[in-house]
Amino acid sequence: MSTTPETLRAEIETFFDDVLPGALDGVTGTVNRGKAWRSALFDHGLAMLEYPEDVGGRGASKAEMQVWRETTRGRIPREDSVFGIGVGMALPTVRDHGSEELRERFIKPGLRGDEIWCQMYSEPGSGSDLASLTTRADLDGDEWIVTGQKVWTSGAHHADYAILLARTDWDAPKHRGITMFVLPMDQPGVEVRPLVQMTGISEFNEVFLSEARLPRSWVVGEVNGGWATAVALLGHERQQTGAKSMSGASHSRSKAGRSPIPVAQLRELAERAGRTDDPVVRQDLARLHSGEQIVKWIGARGIHPSIGKLWRTKQGRAAADVAAALAFPGGPAWGADLDVDRNEEDDYFAYHILNCRGMSLGGGTDEIQRNTLGERALGLPREPGPDRSTPFSDLPRN
Ligand SMILES: Cc1cc2nc3c(=O)[nH]c(=O)nc-3n(C[C@H](O)[C@H](O)[C@H](O)COP(=O)(O)OP(=O)(O)OC[C@H]3O[C@@H](n4cnc5c(N)ncnc54)[C@H](O)[C@@H]3O)c2cc1C
Repeated sequence: MSTTPETLRAEIETFFDDVLPGALDGVTGTVNRGKAWRSALFDHGLAMLEYPEDVGGRGASKAEMQVWRETTRGRIPREDSVFGIGVGMALPTVRDHGSEELRERFIKPGLRGDEIWCQMYSEPGSGSDLASLTTRADLDGDEWIVTGQKVWTSGAHHADYAILLARTDWDAPKHRGITMFVLPMDQPGVEVRPLVQMTGISEFNEVFLSEARLPRSWVVGEVNGGWATAVALLGHERQQTGAKSMSGASHSRSKAGRSPIPVAQLRELAERAGRTDDPVVRQDLARLHSGEQIVKWIGARGIHPSIGKLWRTKQGRAAADVAAALAFPGGPAWGADLDVDRNEEDDYFAYHILNCRGMSLGGGTDEIQRNTLGERALGLPREPGPDRSTPFSDLPRN
């Protein structure tokens, strides 16, 4: 579709000013509001500008994507986080590595917000060392049968589909016997058990897979070639949870999102606490302002996603520490009835203060980001470990 940056900007402005308020009017609940927002976006041709036209996108250029980022900054509803895994990670992987069948089946409904996704990578014994996973998938006629346990699965309690990693060849070296699948969640072999986090809220889950089934053709990429697609998805995840997350998503009291607390809100907090003439607070705010700008610029420049993720998690922790000092001088006290959907000031800051530690873990820990940078950006030798050609079945396991 041919368009100029000016007409695209006007189109986006019209959508946010005239269309979206009506689409969200009277819609309640995070999932429902998220779905209403995405379907309005899709119907107005704005759901994913850089996607090819045949799957609902517009094949937008880099200049057009820059217009999108500038025009939407701070305006994307926080409920869009429901689609962070689908739209941000699973669908781009299906788009780039999936068969025609999978692209045709999943991309449009996912972009339109009809279907919610979760990511089933981590297992009790396999987090940072993801390639050691032991959930198994075996072919049985026209279906794969999947058995194992996943953990920390964000949003599995309202997901329709999972992007799943499972072992399909136990005699191959550990990175070469893994396959990526699309798993339907609504079936007897999938049991989702919520985990309560220290915020008091359950955002992630344990998932038990007992002979869960999926069609033979729902493999993303090659059978036993899942490590390459897994890494491709992680690249999207690090961008999504890294600096990119500060260049477009809403900063307006985004509790459910995983963005650092915006400095403007800490400044307001300092004003209300009568602390704006405190030299330590002033130094803290100035330092955080610099960090916020750096994270945004890293996002805009598109450098290695691990750098953006490291900066963002550092900013998140620093902002939460300042909030704790300003909002809770008596210590990290919070109510037993913390509720992220309630618009209470104390809940908002308490949530961020408690939640920010998890930002350094999800999508790969800070240490793993540094290992990645050491090996991929600096060309340092690979971390010591067992020989990469040893069959998985011969490796010692947790
Ligand atoms: C909020 C949140 C949401 C999440 N959502 C999902 C999800 O939706 N789907 C999913 O699959 N997973 C999810 N995860 C899991 C996340 O990917 C893992 O927690 C993460 O990869 C770390 O794995 P682990 O918890 O097993 O820790 P471990 O791997 O056991 O690590 C423990 C500690 O050892 C360090 N360490 C481990 N290996 C090395 C090494 N080689 N070098 C240096 N240090 C090392 C780690 O940095 C960490 O500090 C989520 C986690 C969080 C916190």
